[in-house]
Amino acid sequence: MIKDLETIFGKEGTSKLQNSKVLMVGSGGIGCELLKNLVLLGYKEIHVVDMDTIDLSNLNRQFLFRFKDIKNFKSVVACDLVNEFKFTNFNTKLVAYTENIMNFKHFNIDWFEQFDVIMNALDNLEARRYINKICQYIKKPLFETGTSGFDGFAMPMLSKVTECFDCTNKETPKTYPVCTIRSTPSQPVHCVVWAKGFLFQELLGDTHEDNIQDYGTDDQEEIQRIKSQQSELHELVLMISDPSLTNMDEVVEKTINKVFVDDIKKLLAIDSLWKTRKPPRVLDLTNVDFGIEEMDDLDKNKEWTLEENINHFIVSLKKLINRKRSNNNAGLEFDKDDNDALLFLASAANIRSEIFSITTKTVFDIKQIAGNIIPAIATTNAIIASFSTLNSLKLLAFGDDIQSLKSSFTSWATGTSNKKYMNMVRVNKPNPECTVCSRTNNMIMDLNQSTTLDQVISFLRDKFKDMFPEDISVMNLNNSSIIYDFDFDDLISTPLSKIINPSPLTADFLLILDEDTSETICKPIQILLNWTDSLPINVNTDTLDQYTKTTHDEQEKTQSDAAINDDGEIVLMDDDDGQPAHKKHKLNDDHVEVLSD
Ligand SMILES: [Zn+2]
Repeated sequence: MIKDLETIFGKEGTSKLQNSKVLMVGSGGIGCELLKNLVLLGYKEIHVVDMDTIDLSNLNRQFLFRFKDIKNFKSVVACDLVNEFKFTNFNTKLVAYTENIMNFKHFNIDWFEQFDVIMNALDNLEARRYINKICQYIKKPLFETGTSGFDGFAMPMLSKVTECFDCTNKETPKTYPVCTIRSTPSQPVHCVVWAKGFLFQELLGDTHEDNIQDYGTDDQEEIQRIKSQQSELHELVLMISDPSLTNMDEVVEKTINKVFVDDIKKLLAIDSLWKTRKPPRVLDLTNVDFGIEEMDDLDKNKEWTLEENINHFIVSLKKLINRKRSNNNAGLEFDKDDNDALLFLASAANIRSEIFSITTKTVFDIKQIAGNIIPAIATTNAIIASFSTLNSLKLLAFGDDIQSLKSSFTSWATGTSNKKYMNMVRVNKPNPECTVCSRTNNMIMDLNQSTTLDQVISFLRDKFKDMFPEDISVMNLNNSSIIYDFDFDDLISTPLSKIINPSPLTADFLLILDEDTSETICKPIQILLNWTDSLPINVNTDTLDQYTKTTHDEQEKTQSDAAINDDGEIVLMDDDDGQPAHKKHKLNDDHVEVLSD
């Protein structure tokens, strides 16, 4: 095998591979494929981090796992199994970790720096963004991957050379305005969200929307209707929960009358809603048989008629009410795999769709919409993992310039109508608007527990001389507070570790801002604090970014993007006096003082 590799990569390339250390983050769908590829290539060491355990639903595609492995850690099982194969002469060393990769106390900067490349095989945005940020500081190549159904991408990234993961906005899970869901649905998904998140929850669940902050509309009449609907529903819930009301037909009839007739009539009465929209029509209950107790199983892949939907609604609601009552009226939890709940959801959503002239969906479709399920496809994972492996290979064995590596996207992911399934595109340059890779000078600072704020500032002034701004303020990004500026130097001789209270798990960051009044100012400096025992202070760079100038407007944008407060909210600019809100919160030795300037 070593001969085969040498034929392809040459002696030098092969030996480079055999001396490379790879960090692989995630050992799920893409990770299993990636690990197999990397081991077959004979990398020296592969470190696998995954805090997830194996679930039954993983087994169809995460081929390193078996039934007996369920509930065990993915990283450990994957490494153990590959070790058992013993198919390689190269003695690749495998190391498994079961901690959260974002635990900075466990995986600190020195740990990350031991690797030659970092390969992501993650399933969540938060960890992806975290690794991306770390790679911007340590300047190691990151190979990012992702799949969704038949879609996928594999992208090489390098700090200051290519775009980073945060250079383009990533889609966040879609939410809908309250008014769209409750008053003016126009798509099948709106009706599914209404049936699942509102009707099921209010009637049968135990979480109720009492405290809506944002209705998504200024129409007072509509807001009033949504509010009164809430209290009217409460009467229905009392009826549903009252075991003395044994006439179930009547309970169900009242429910249907309320949600599909009365509520629609009230909506129709608000003229402003229907000026530009097709008005809904009230459900005709003339021939409805509320006494129906059972329904034959209908094809879940076929669209049902209105009558079939109404009948299913009646039957499933009766069953769910009985279940709720027999469980001391404890709220039911929606589960798409619970047949009664699914039929209730599908029939309710479809009846509402009929009322609002929206196309109806099959039960199968509605289950997918409600579960937000995009099937994971083993083939897509295998293809994407291969492209990522190839890129790592080109970089390590052939020493290719990372800029010459290609990103690989499925045609669907790029929205191209190309007949090819995969598109290879040249990597983009960093986006100058990106707060993670472009808007700030990023550096790692080694410091110990007794290094003072004064030492930090003096060190930077000394190191960067004229490049370093004259008037500065220093912000602790852990809690978005200013810890130093031109008229606030109380903390200057305090050890930084005491001021910022190093967070127990995550990384600590400082942001240094140029407070000069001239038109162009120095780019903000963002510092990742690397707490060590030895060095009093040092940074990992000799120069500040060459495009070091920026404007006050740009700086403010950077500042508010970077400043995340404790509640995870971005600190907003204060409208009153044009001053950033955080400027008013200055951290004192023992308390936070709110200044009124
Ligand atoms: Zn970026």
